[in-house]
Amino acid sequence: MCTPGHALSSIKGVGVCGDAEEIMEPHVVSLLLLLLMFGGLSESAPVSITMSDNAMSEADQAFAEEYIDLYFSDVGTLNSTMRSVTNYSFEENLEMMQSFFGLEVTGKLDNETIQVMKAPRCGVSDISKYGHFAGQPKWEKKVLTYRDVDNTIAQAFKLYSDVIPLDFKQITSGTADIMILFKGGYHGDFYPFDGRGGVLAHANSPGRAEGGDTHFDDDEHWTLTSRGSNLLLVAAHEFGHALGLDHSRLRGALMYPTYRYVNTNGYKLPDDDRKGVQSLYGKQYWAINVYDRSMMPGYPQPLTSFGLPSILTKLDAAVYESYTQSVFFFWEAQYWSYDTRRKQMNSGYPKFISQGFPGIGSKVDAAFENYSYLYFSNGAKQVEYSYYYKQVVRTLLNYGWLNCY
Ligand SMILES: [Zn+2]
Ligand SMILES: [Zn+2]
Repeated sequence: MCTPGHALSSIKGVGVCGDAEEIMEPHVVSLLLLLLMFGGLSESAPVSITMSDNAMSEADQAFAEEYIDLYFSDVGTLNSTMRSVTNYSFEENLEMMQSFFGLEVTGKLDNETIQVMKAPRCGVSDISKYGHFAGQPKWEKKVLTYRDVDNTIAQAFKLYSDVIPLDFKQITSGTADIMILFKGGYHGDFYPFDGRGGVLAHANSPGRAEGGDTHFDDDEHWTLTSRGSNLLLVAAHEFGHALGLDHSRLRGALMYPTYRYVNTNGYKLPDDDRKGVQSLYGKQYWAINVYDRSMMPGYPQPLTSFGLPSILTKLDAAVYESYTQSVFFFWEAQYWSYDTRRKQMNSGYPKFISQGFPGIGSKVDAAFENYSYLYFSNGAKQVEYSYYYKQVVRTLLNYGWLNCY
């Protein structure tokens, strides 16, 4: 399922930190290796590109062709030794690239485009192999192992385990799900690294064998600061691929293909990435303090830590009810109740939703509390419910909350 072509990626940082973020000018590094390999070829190769007014050098042209070939051509989903033939012309693929990065879409190689191409980036293709198709690979297990690395790597995994019901465990021998390698140049796959700059790292999408494996270019200057390549940001990006995420076009997303430093103090997954990974794995559950809407200490926690049965690995919804100070967990036609004062599950559950919450229906997609009423939605229908009176107060349409009246 996992092909190296898809698998490689590099890093980039993204920022949720607004004014705190420092943007590091990408250092423009020529990929000498590529130039050496392809520079000579381009003289004899047919020139398929229309030059813009500020004519690009042959080296830039060759660099651009290789870049498009690596990141924007349809590389197919074959195995690690084969690539399918590109179906689009260089100009068409270049337009795709310009559109992806929000550049003017001209299909011509200009300075701005070549500058973006030379920014340090992830080695994984920008063309989604899976997109919105149902076949997007993901891990089916709940605990993933990795090997022999330091705190920063653990911290990068924690960005994900904080928001999805998946745990990461370090092992010191044997084959881990996610094998992590720091090596420069050729390192055993079809995607040799290119020295300082250019490609920083890459990772395989989920799957057996090399699936999830993540490689870092050891020729980079890895740091924990704004200088060089920040390992936390790059690792977090690569682990996104290892969990099944593709590149994002959103500049603020962690999964944006080029590297950008942002302040890593208190760094959390940006919204776009959090939603992406939660759409694959479901959500981790939090307990919210309803008075100030802050997160209660010690959360999020896996569902089993509440005392929910371990077979219950995901939920339809959870909501805090302030009158009883309990959290209700909903799954299909049933629900459970957790007492936040005693910090344990209430006995006598699960119960049927239709009995405990008469009138709301037999299933819940989402739930929240507002001014001591509970709101439940199921499809387009939403009800306002009084837990105190055990009855539906009003029936609304979901879009009412978007002020669409
Ligand atoms: Zn990437
Ligand atoms: Zn590699």
